[in-house]
Amino acid sequence: MERKMVELEDTGLTFETHVDLGRLKRLAAEWLEVIGEDPSREGLLKTPERVAKAWAFLTRGYRQDLKAIVNGALFPAEGSEMVVVKGIEFYSMCEHHLLPFFGQVHIGYIPGEKILGLSKFARIVDMFARRLQVQERLAVQIAEAIQEILEPQGVGVVVEGVHLCMMMRGVEKQHSRTTTSAMLGVFRESQKTREEFLSHLK
Ligand SMILES: [Zn+2]
Repeated sequence: MERKMVELEDTGLTFETHVDLGRLKRLAAEWLEVIGEDPSREGLLKTPERVAKAWAFLTRGYRQDLKAIVNGALFPAEGSEMVVVKGIEFYSMCEHHLLPFFGQVHIGYIPGEKILGLSKFARIVDMFARRLQVQERLAVQIAEAIQEILEPQGVGVVVEGVHLCMMMRGVEKQHSRTTTSAMLGVFRESQKTREEFLSHLK
């Protein structure tokens, strides 16, 4: 599939995509018809095009490469103290309803021989969040990616998310804030390590 540059209206954002925007635009127009709208009314004229571009953006994580993201930001570790990166914002789409869920990711790891530049954690989170997801898998994929790149003694990932598919459909409003986690290596084996990590998140 051909790659092209796309500019997102009103955001100043430009990104590269493989998504067939013409096809997605036609599908969005059909979607509008199916729900009883008139895609030719003035307010909706540009909607299919906006939807196509927005969805190319919201799913761009499928087309990103972990090694390219991490490129050049690996450094030798100088100790084995736990590193904790808190409050990384994420925005994702649930794969069951194609509605947003969003929140924060917290990452902790105990280095092996390498550490990773702090800004790269947000890029890794984004790579997995910008796909259709379930929150449990998001946590696991982030943890496994960090395990793969850094080969740390262990890694822990906690994801706190708010799910619009639950809130907007009026179900389980009281449980709409969900916490999931993935623990690997010493974070899985040692309760003390896990507790130290979780105490950083309070
Ligand atoms: Zn959902």
